[in-house]
Amino acid sequence: MSNRSKTGSPDATAVPGFRYPRGGAERYGSPQPRPAGTQRTRPRTPRPVHGLATVDDGGTNYEDDWVRRVIVKFRDDVVPPEPPADVQDYVAALEDSSSLWTDLRLSFGVSAIERYTSLPAEEIAAATEAARANDASFEPPNFSNYFAVTVPSGISPEEVVARALGAEGVELAEIEPHFTDGSFPDGTNPRLANEGFLKPAPVGIDAPCAWAMPGGTGRGVQFIDVEQGWLFGHEDLAGANVGLVRGQNWTSSRPHGTSAMGIVVMQDNDLGGVGIAPACAARASGCRTSTGAYDLLGAILAASNALDRGDVMLVEQQALDGDNPGPVEVSDPIFAAIRTAVAKGVIVIEAGGNKGTDLDTWSHPTRGRVFNRADAAFRDSGAILVGACSSASPHRRLAFSPTGSRIDCCAWGENVDTASTDAGGATDVYTATFNGTSSASPIIAGVAIVTQAMVRQRVLLSLSPAEMRARLSDPRNGTRMAAGQPAIGVMPDIAKLVANVVLAYSTDDGVPQPLDNVAALAFLDAGHGGHQRSGQSTPHGVRGPAGTWEKDVNLALARATQARLGSRAALSREGDYNVSLRGRLEAARRSGASVYVGLHANSGQAGQRGAEVWVYGDGQRPAQAQSLKLAQTISEELGRIDGVVAPVRAGDIATLRPPQHRQGVAACIVEADYLSSPDGERRLRDPRALDQIGQAIATGVQRFLGGAGRAPDRPAPRRGAGERALQRR
Ligand SMILES: [Zn+2]
Repeated sequence: MSNRSKTGSPDATAVPGFRYPRGGAERYGSPQPRPAGTQRTRPRTPRPVHGLATVDDGGTNYEDDWVRRVIVKFRDDVVPPEPPADVQDYVAALEDSSSLWTDLRLSFGVSAIERYTSLPAEEIAAATEAARANDASFEPPNFSNYFAVTVPSGISPEEVVARALGAEGVELAEIEPHFTDGSFPDGTNPRLANEGFLKPAPVGIDAPCAWAMPGGTGRGVQFIDVEQGWLFGHEDLAGANVGLVRGQNWTSSRPHGTSAMGIVVMQDNDLGGVGIAPACAARASGCRTSTGAYDLLGAILAASNALDRGDVMLVEQQALDGDNPGPVEVSDPIFAAIRTAVAKGVIVIEAGGNKGTDLDTWSHPTRGRVFNRADAAFRDSGAILVGACSSASPHRRLAFSPTGSRIDCCAWGENVDTASTDAGGATDVYTATFNGTSSASPIIAGVAIVTQAMVRQRVLLSLSPAEMRARLSDPRNGTRMAAGQPAIGVMPDIAKLVANVVLAYSTDDGVPQPLDNVAALAFLDAGHGGHQRSGQSTPHGVRGPAGTWEKDVNLALARATQARLGSRAALSREGDYNVSLRGRLEAARRSGASVYVGLHANSGQAGQRGAEVWVYGDGQRPAQAQSLKLAQTISEELGRIDGVVAPVRAGDIATLRPPQHRQGVAACIVEADYLSSPDGERRLRDPRALDQIGQAIATGVQRFLGGAGRAPDRPAPRRGAGERALQRR
């Protein structure tokens, strides 16, 4: 298409001869000289608000006012890694390496160029660092490299894309999809009363089966819904205490978000209905910034930052207009944001959109068949993509549902009974006809939340995004569709998930059984660190006669142990800095590890030597069996080096108190040797000796987790005169 006019652009006709080739396939080599008579001035026109012109749109039909933008991404070598805070400074700086902005201004009258997300640089860095920490293979995209160019009215966005693609240093240019909420007014579908989607299979997902299980109401799992608006004060949501982690509450979208949130967390009270996971910790991340700009990228990364590994994010928007197929990840920056959250370990549920696209045959103009799992162009964000089926059983694909190999799961896309509101924000409104992939996706989010909660309740580990997707999209865990339906994924059946997944996680002996694709097995807490106290954690620890600091010994020992255990062992610190006891314990819980080992070096009378292993016990309460078993297994392994079994002692040690750890975690502290002794210090400075001690600890942990640890053959020593009443470590 080439239908641009130049009505909006006073400069556009003022530069005769300033022409670029059409098509944009070629590169131009060096930047074009700035045309005579033009200055590199910054546009002074106020930036238009993306979306609506006002914050309170006060209506429901804002779609006509959607401002068309083109997304431009520069190559990393073109853009400084630490961009100036002010985007206009940045744009000005970019003009030194690319003529694009000047060209767009002069040719098309483009005046508004913005960073694509307004999320602060620190928060972007937090999201990508968390992703990299969890997934070493993940290469973080440079999110500060994405820009949005507002296309003036009368100009064709395709032409802006073509021009941008031809400019020096540009890696990507594409039209921003029209992102919207995903449901639409109900048509002729028969209305089933009440929440049939909750019923046992084959009708629904069988939420009551989950509710009968420990954790099955979602307790202990965090959930964030990413969209535009909600009525948090709705009578059936208020008890869930939902708040925003980013953005604002967009008035016209309140019915949509209230309905989606209601499917997951409507409270178990005397009002309205009940959500699938009423006890989960629910929050919301708004795509609308304080200025009303639409920033889905920022909303997804902010949600990722607010969630932990194994928690659940719902991306409840769609990309609907033009050639867009429905899923928001069709847009490159949104794909990158979802991929970043998944790399961190967050489970992302993504609405497939209501465009009825066959995603196997649909082809992106530059990236090809990105949604076809069998195609070389396939790219996987890691999200669980959701289609929509009929409410009537046997379930059929609804005409608006996308189809194809990329669709993982489906659920009711019609007749969903949930909370809603009206233009005035009434708190007691419900709908029986919430629909689209917008009703299907929160149902799948609810299933993911309760499944995770039940698994965590049993084994203290979290299903990873890949594991969760594999389980929910496995036909063995779902309800069979009507014959001859195109691929719209699996409608999960919680009864089958409980039987095939949740109950497969053994809790025999109170020892969590490790599985593939799950969180860390062991958490290694190198005591002390840095130069300053952090909370109750002292920085240096014991000092040897030759000046060796305990904090350095502890870290070296943690690394030596990790080297033997592999990547499934998580460390409390990676360098010489201090972490508060609370921070260490939070990290231990978050890691999902079933074993906690604190690493320390001892101090005592002259000549005292040898290792000790400590468990929690305060005289009244005996040590917990699993912790004692872990300590004894490690002490046996340490004994193979020293020739004497290391004593296992009990004390009221702050980091070992049972309430600080998830239920069933085995926790102990290893005092590797006496740093206060010159011989002990020599040993703890010797890398080979540390490696030997680390190997012994690792072997003990492995034996314990493998179930081969010998049963306790002697009681835990009672707290005696020589033992510490209270230790803060
Ligand atoms: Zn210590």
